[in-house]
Amino acid sequence: MSLVIVGSVAFDTIETPEDRRERIVGGSCTYSALAASFFTRPKIVGIVGEDFPKETAALMKRRGIDLKGLKIVPGGKTFYWEGRYGDDPNQRDTMRLDLNVFGDFQPNLPPSYRKPDILFLANIGPSLQEHVLSQVARPRLVAMDTIRHYIETEPESLDRVLRKTDIYFANDEEARLMTGERNLIRAGRLLLERGPRLVVLKKGEHGVLVFKKDSLFAFVAHPCDGVVDPTGAGDSFAGAFLGYLDRAGDFRASSIRRAAVYGSVLASFTIEDFGIERLAALKKSDIEGRFAYLKKIASI
Ligand code: AMP
Repeated sequence: MSLVIVGSVAFDTIETPEDRRERIVGGSCTYSALAASFFTRPKIVGIVGEDFPKETAALMKRRGIDLKGLKIVPGGKTFYWEGRYGDDPNQRDTMRLDLNVFGDFQPNLPPSYRKPDILFLANIGPSLQEHVLSQVARPRLVAMDTIRHYIETEPESLDRVLRKTDIYFANDEEARLMTGERNLIRAGRLLLERGPRLVVLKKGEHGVLVFKKDSLFAFVAHPCDGVVDPTGAGDSFAGAFLGYLDRAGDFRASSIRRAAVYGSVLASFTIEDFGIERLAALKKSDIEGRFAYLKKIASI
């Protein structure tokens, strides 16, 4: 199978109550592609400026990520985001966002990208997500993610993308914002009525809920006693989830369950260090070890 991911490739400045890092590599596409790369060879669609580190591109290549769809703009500046976390790692404020080269990006997908089995519209403006959707032959599965910023600023185009989506990934805050509903079970069911066949609701350290029309699965998160940097947890979750499905080659309930556990595993690693540091150092054996542990603590 094949997995195409479109999203942001960024420089992030991150502030947590304990520490701060300036201009480290981040972006929804970066995290999700690195997480997916432990299961399959994702193809990415994105744009960066000339300032983007060559070492990061080399790391992605080593991890088997196809960079043909990553445009490098000579003299351009890479997307920049600044986020600040308070004591609750699930709450963050955007302090600054400079679109830079993303401002007028209209991707033209390479021919080898146009028939993906799975298309992941990671967090980026919904009009760009639509533009990418319009360039691919109907994939077997379309998944999407978004954040508060686009829910508040572009609700109409977001709803159009949602209607064409099979799997929608959201965290609890986003699900509440999208539906105006505080109860997450009702919010998940309301979201199902807006298009997706599956709604995956991530609840940070409380695990994940997977909604289908007639069923609901729940999974625990890896118990972690300290978060260094929560950034990218959602993207890593989605990347691993879809990377696993791409490798599995089917979308049966048992594969979806395993995909959700692999999603939790990759997210739990990402938050152990700033930026992509932990993902860059990760081995397959670390992933399988944590998968086995999660299985063990969840069994009855
Ligand atoms: P997550 O923590 O999984 O929600 O995603 C964090 C990543 O999203 C960061 O690395 C940012 O670079 C990226 N990001 C933040 N705001 C935006 C935005 N408005 N559009 C696209 N990507 C963004």
